[in-house]
Amino acid sequence: MMNKTVLITGSTSGIGLALAKQFAKEGYQIMFHGLESNGNEIAKAIGEKYEVKVAFSKANLLKSDAVEDLVAETINSFGKLHILVNNAGIQYVSPIEDFPNSKYEDIIAINMNAAFYASKAAWKQMKSQKFGRIINISSVHGLRASEFKSAYVAAKHGVIGMTKVLALEGAPFNITCNAICPGYVKTPLVEGQIKDQAKAHHMTEVEVIEKVMLKKQAVKQFVPVDTIADMALLLAKETSSTITGTSFALDGGWSAQ
Ligand code: NAD
Repeated sequence: MMNKTVLITGSTSGIGLALAKQFAKEGYQIMFHGLESNGNEIAKAIGEKYEVKVAFSKANLLKSDAVEDLVAETINSFGKLHILVNNAGIQYVSPIEDFPNSKYEDIIAINMNAAFYASKAAWKQMKSQKFGRIINISSVHGLRASEFKSAYVAAKHGVIGMTKVLALEGAPFNITCNAICPGYVKTPLVEGQIKDQAKAHHMTEVEVIEKVMLKKQAVKQFVPVDTIADMALLLAKETSSTITGTSFALDGGWSAQ
């Protein structure tokens, strides 16, 4: 049995949930987290299926002290924290002139600031055990821009900058930090965007998928969640200690252009 603990923020939905399943399958202990009301049941079912220890928190990542408490709770429950996946995120699509300030602030707080507070809170534990793997789920929008996504693109670019700094600071302690940058993945977050984009572009939802979302991907398929999980599992390994400070685009060739 693998004796490593992974905290995945936003792991009761979408990409985070897929990652949690694959890590559990490999025997990792999982700290589940997310706002979904059935989070506890999701965590319990996966723990039973793969016979791994799990816990669950519904900490609201909008607040820095809640992020710190989430990390502390993980270390209290499992005794250790080896891998932190900063995955939770939200999206809002609007031309800048109509972009609500509150939405901008929430996106920066959840998609970027929470990764800082969680990494900072996990640092002491990772440093003392001379092992840490921080995996930030950024986006192709951490590497490229699209109109109407000023807050999201700013936050995701910011996460990539932070990733590089933590890689440098973590190097002496076997703490690596990398970012994964997916193209479009069909999750509840994207289902919501299809609706918002249809409104912003005055298109039908089918037109948005074909003409807007997958337009920039050379491979005209949504990125499978298991592709992201495979990448995260690789980055988490003991043998991946020299892979650090890098952003991995899993974007169907979008950023090749
Ligand atoms: P999702 O909506 O399915 O899941 C998001 C998770 O974050 C949920 O568990 C939700 O409860 C949690 N969350 C949201 N706000 C929170 C808050 N205030 N406090 C605590 N938890 C909160 O989304 P997803 O598509 O799985 O996205 C996961 C990550 O992947 C995000 O960072 C997203 O930006 C990134 N991403 C997604 C895509 C895509 O196409 N789906 C592409 C690139 C990057």
